[in-house]
Amino acid sequence: LAIAASLSSAFGPDLCATDPGAIAAACVDAWQLHAGRAASVVRPRSVAEVAAVVGWCASHGVTVVPQGGNTGVMGGAIPDGSGTQVVLCLSRLNRIREIDPVNHTATVEAGCILAQVQAAAADVDRLFPLSFGAEGSCQIGGALATNAGGSNTLRYGNARDLVLGLEVVLADGRVWNGLRKLRKDNTGYDLKQLFLGAEGTLGIITAAVLKLFPKPRSVATVLVALADLDAAPRLLALARDRSGEMLSAFELIPRRSIELVSKHVPGAAMPPAAEQDWFALLEFGGSQPSQALNEQIQSLLEAAFEQGPLVDAAVAASMAQRDAMWRLREGIPDAQLRHGAVVYFDVSVAVSDVPAFIREASAALVRLDASVDINAFGHVGDGNIHFNLLQPAHAAAPEFLARKPAFEDAVFEVVRRLNGSISAEHGVGQAKLAALPGFKSEVELDLMRRIRRAIAQEQLNPGKVVALS
Ligand SMILES: Cc1cc2nc3c(=O)[nH]c(=O)nc-3n(C[C@H](O)[C@H](O)[C@H](O)COP(=O)(O)OP(=O)(O)OC[C@H]3O[C@@H](n4cnc5c(N)ncnc54)[C@H](O)[C@@H]3O)c2cc1C
Repeated sequence: LAIAASLSSAFGPDLCATDPGAIAAACVDAWQLHAGRAASVVRPRSVAEVAAVVGWCASHGVTVVPQGGNTGVMGGAIPDGSGTQVVLCLSRLNRIREIDPVNHTATVEAGCILAQVQAAAADVDRLFPLSFGAEGSCQIGGALATNAGGSNTLRYGNARDLVLGLEVVLADGRVWNGLRKLRKDNTGYDLKQLFLGAEGTLGIITAAVLKLFPKPRSVATVLVALADLDAAPRLLALARDRSGEMLSAFELIPRRSIELVSKHVPGAAMPPAAEQDWFALLEFGGSQPSQALNEQIQSLLEAAFEQGPLVDAAVAASMAQRDAMWRLREGIPDAQLRHGAVVYFDVSVAVSDVPAFIREASAALVRLDASVDINAFGHVGDGNIHFNLLQPAHAAAPEFLARKPAFEDAVFEVVRRLNGSISAEHGVGQAKLAALPGFKSEVELDLMRRIRRAIAQEQLNPGKVVALS
């Protein structure tokens, strides 16, 4: 209470939330996986106010938890249980500062919703390609802080590949203005890369210069039934050979996901040859007219039938059909939640190892519990699998979730063997803090700790990403 009262007298009631509902909402994440308590929730309206609040916290020994749209799933934006931390919400920093269609850049504030950035780019006939299920509520600052991926990573890269410049409030309240619009700048260390993917442990991102791209003139979306799991990387390789950079998405969908979505998500397209076990959603974007793109896709599909990975395919004939196909893919997380409790894994391996990972991890889990219900889907074009376990009918949620450590041991062992990552795109947050040392060498951990110590100590987001002691 003392912290809340001091902050409120320093910055006024407009900045410091007093509504208990708003404070409680900031202390639990979207999927209710993590919960904490905050001394105060602060909503600055400008970069100067962010700097003033962060500076005040540093001089009063109060730690700060940056929060964007609160859609992250690793508990990175959630305060600990002490009730002494300040949650700093970026939602009021939501101006598009500048769009430069000639330079293909957008300068935006951190609190802009991702969909707002996409729409601002589309208004000037440009594409901002970062796209995923939470785009209607996550903020660009949160997406950059977690180095978010999504369904277009295959063609355009992760969030960190889409940034030319950053503005950051440092842990002591100083502002680093690195909002450069340059595509070439070899003047020493690339400091912005330190803050991208740092999950708010090194600085508060307040604005960014983002790369925009030419908008594809034609788009083709295809839902295919695969011969088997091994067909996924084979089809991916063939599609990349035949279409080069035009392939923007390659998403794996198992039959289990189809069952869940058809039960819980209205309006989703159902795949052809529904008796198969594995399906994929592919999207291509080109600069040629639609007819020419469709002809190229037809010839790719014919080759895939002949060579074996493909059993059946449906090409979207309208935007409505395209949307329904994407609803099938994007509806999976929601359908899982409606089904019951979920144990999440967000792993990556080399694209060529995806079938081996799914098979070996599934076998390891079945050895543990023959009734395990696995739903493995996702961005297979990036080797990134959302390998999720669903609550079985015979177990209550707490009983099922209590087994998470045993499930983790089994899955992480396979990830380790295949030289993969235990967090492909969701970050480390608090959820993976304890597991991380098992996947990094002492040298790597030492470098991470030194960077954190030098830049921010544990003034920002303590207990997240990497512990200093
Ligand atoms: C339905 C659904 C689908 C999703 N799909 C994907 C997907 O395909 N790919 C993917 O990568 N993620 C996905 N996510 C995870 C999540 O949406 C992303 O991680 C998103 O980028 C987080 O943005 P946010 O604004 O909600 O950040 P928050 O959840 O508010 O914060 C996430 C982390 O970033 C830090 N942070 C937030 N804002 C700032 C800032 N301005 N400066 C510094 N640090 C900051 C927080 O402290 C925290 O550590 C999905 C989530 C949901 C619910």
